[in-house]
Amino acid sequence: MTRIIVSACLAGVNCTYRGDNNLSFDLLRLIDRFILIPVCPEQLGGLATPRNPAEIKLSSDWISRKIVTDQYGNDLTSQFNKGAEEVLKISRFLRANLAILKSRSPSCGCRGVYDGSFSGIMVDGMGITAELLMKNGIEVYSEDEISFLL
Ligand code: SF4
Repeated sequence: MTRIIVSACLAGVNCTYRGDNNLSFDLLRLIDRFILIPVCPEQLGGLATPRNPAEIKLSSDWISRKIVTDQYGNDLTSQFNKGAEEVLKISRFLRANLAILKSRSPSCGCRGVYDGSFSGIMVDGMGITAELLMKNGIEVYSEDEISFLL
């Protein structure tokens, strides 16, 4: 069976920054036909749950280096990068070439992220984990795009 990395919060794990989840009933419809592997990159990066919300900072070096901060300006980039590397490691170990990740997250978002101003403004771009997986040949989709698998 095809193995798919999924954002753990979409599988009902209480790992979001608020300490709750984003259970996706569409995702549940896949469990008989695919092996779903739940991961939370922010927890794997060593962040606590619950935790402060974080966003990718929009800066002049936006393309070359992404900086992730919480709303108090604390730099969480290293934890986000570590979490992404751990998810990539798990993906390779289990030979998962597909990922379904939570939209808009600074880790998991794959079709736009918040702009770093903590004011709800979306910009083009990907979360840290979503981008690393994509750059390593893993197909990445959001939970809103999985109708082709249902
Ligand atoms: S990092 Fe990803 S899996 Fe973890 S709570 Fe955020 S969106 Fe969900």
